[in-house]
Amino acid sequence: MSAKLLDGASAGAAIRAELQSRVRALPRPPGLAVILAGDNAGSESYVRAKIKAAGELGLLSELIRLPAKLTTPDVLAHIADLNHRPEIDGILVQLPLPPQVDAAAALLAVDPAKDVDGFHPLNLGNLVSHRPGPLPCTPAGIMELLRRNEIAVEGREAVVVGRSDIVGKPLALLLLRAHATVTICHSRTPNLPEVCRRAELLFAAIGRPALLDERHIRPGAVVVDVGVNALTRREDVERYFPGDAKRLAEFERRGRTLIGDVDPRAAAALASAATPVPGGVGPLTVAMLMANTVAAAERRF
Ligand code: NDP
Repeated sequence: MSAKLLDGASAGAAIRAELQSRVRALPRPPGLAVILAGDNAGSESYVRAKIKAAGELGLLSELIRLPAKLTTPDVLAHIADLNHRPEIDGILVQLPLPPQVDAAAALLAVDPAKDVDGFHPLNLGNLVSHRPGPLPCTPAGIMELLRRNEIAVEGREAVVVGRSDIVGKPLALLLLRAHATVTICHSRTPNLPEVCRRAELLFAAIGRPALLDERHIRPGAVVVDVGVNALTRREDVERYFPGDAKRLAEFERRGRTLIGDVDPRAAAALASAATPVPGGVGPLTVAMLMANTVAAAERRF
């Protein structure tokens, strides 16, 4: 079997194109503020992608860079200011925050109406109880990717590996809302391969390069790989991407290449459909952030 590619880049572009007329219908451009603290290379590149997408869509975006040494009261003061500014519709606090900062307090301080990441406890409560509100971007993007590829969820066996507040848990709740039978796995799950092999829909949100392999994938399963990990050894690149000249060239150029949580050879051989890394879930996350920001602005008018 050769898995169908679930192309997140084109789905993300389609979502952003569909938002254009909604942006034009508003009396002023929606405003997105991003708080970025410290110098985490991953966060820098995620934020760059978000600001670029906002600009292309005609949103007003503002990047607030804060030093790594900042304190919890510093972050809270910036959030309070953004909560009050009328031209700002969405506030995103890029995680992780430096370790001395109370991240939970920061997320709680964001006005729930401007919480475009959907991480405020009130919005997580709305998700649990099926009330309207912004949904966390990565899980919402995954559901959109399934929908656009006409992959049925209702009545199917779904396994989510990872239970973080930003991906695994909300994704499991959205799958449940869509009437899947959902199992959540984590680092203490015994017999992980056996549990994963039950999945008609398998989701990996772990952060461990190629942790899931042919032992974990039921033949014909749909595999969605959220993980973003760097391979920095040439032998690993040759092992996981045999004969892939583009990957090797990228590795030669940058000294690294990205891989998900699923061994791409196993996904290609066993799955009926699978997301690539990069170009799978990532672009959907950015597109859903744009959708949440536009929706937040619409609600305020
Ligand atoms: P976290 O580190 O918060 O959570 C990882 C989860 O994986 C935990 O629940 C952990 O279990 C579980 N886990 C770790 N090791 C194992 C193991 N050996 N077996 C089974 N489960 C395990 O990560 P995030 O949820 O924030 O992110 C997951 C991945 O997704 C990362 O690679 C991240 O970079 C990527 N990501 C990608 C996005 C995108 O847009 N493409 C957006 C957000 C994240 P336990 O709870 O027991 O510790």
